[in-house]
Amino acid sequence: MGGSTPFAPIRRAAVIGAGVMGAGIAAHLANAGMKVLLLDVPPTALTPEEAQAGLTLADKPVRNRLAAKALAALTKRQPQALYDNAYAARITAGNLEDDGAKLGDVEWIVEAVVERLDVKQAVLERIEAARGAGTIVTTNTSGLSVAAMAEGRGESFRNYFAGAHFFNPPRHMKLVELVPGPDTDPELLVRLADICHRQLGKGVVVAKDTPNFIANRIGTYGMLVTIHAMRRYGLTVDEVDALTGPAMGRPKTATFRMLDLVGLDTLLHVVDNVRERSDDEQERAAFARPPELEALAARGWLGEKTGQGFYRKL
Ligand code: NAD
Repeated sequence: MGGSTPFAPIRRAAVIGAGVMGAGIAAHLANAGMKVLLLDVPPTALTPEEAQAGLTLADKPVRNRLAAKALAALTKRQPQALYDNAYAARITAGNLEDDGAKLGDVEWIVEAVVERLDVKQAVLERIEAARGAGTIVTTNTSGLSVAAMAEGRGESFRNYFAGAHFFNPPRHMKLVELVPGPDTDPELLVRLADICHRQLGKGVVVAKDTPNFIANRIGTYGMLVTIHAMRRYGLTVDEVDALTGPAMGRPKTATFRMLDLVGLDTLLHVVDNVRERSDDEQERAAFARPPELEALAARGWLGEKTGQGFYRKL
């Protein structure tokens, strides 16, 4: 996108969900000069994986502390030549339960909670009740249906709602996929492209509201094929990472280190999403859950966010 700036930049934003992505997106928005309200959602239920691992609700805040740690680490690592030092002070942390009313003061709300349609629908209902007229709402879903997420919400909300999918880590990954729902105002899409491109320094593609959009549809398929090949040829995790990383001109984080960064529970949700929604039989078969991932997730080993996934975090 070029030409003169058609819109005023966003000054006040909120991010709902302070996990791997929420913390990273909040840091990136603050870097870009926005005041950011980062609200976590107090957990009210265990995931099936957590229940199976014998965790209780009391264990869950540990994850939120990890998120806070991740945010602190991010703030330390920013190159000062690019960003000013004041941005950490521009982030205010809280939780949706106690601070939800503050959403009335922001211009853009980013939803970044766990990749489950029921959870996202419930959170969006709360956002709708708190948001001011004209506030933009985007979801960071990796590929759930944007249309399904908007169901049950009022027209004004639906007009101002779209997918804006950041990649991990949000500070470094250049792409944002914008995904309009059936009622997204076309002007909103232009505005979001402008914000992402000019204010956040991202490249933008507009994707259709298909399962996992573009990058994750292809990227996750590649991961699944790699895991299948590991099993078939009896390779170890280290061997696969050695073969598929710098030796092939790809980063060290190409395969299993990447899965640890993404979160194994999130990857399983993404895999399920294509398998359950694709109309292509071959694709549905390719998106079967790999037993290796299920076994780790069942132990509560979800990757970097829990300190252990394929690798132990040092
Ligand atoms: P995460 O597990 O690190 O964080 C999830 C957040 O959701 C936490 O704040 C948690 O408190 C909240 N949450 C968990 N269960 C909840 C419940 N029952 N009700 C309400 N909130 C609940 O996940 P993440 O990796 O940050 O993913 C967040 C979103 O971003 C997902 O939609 C995911 O698909 C998407 N995404 C993830 C990645 C990635 O690499 N991890 C990349 C791009 C997009």
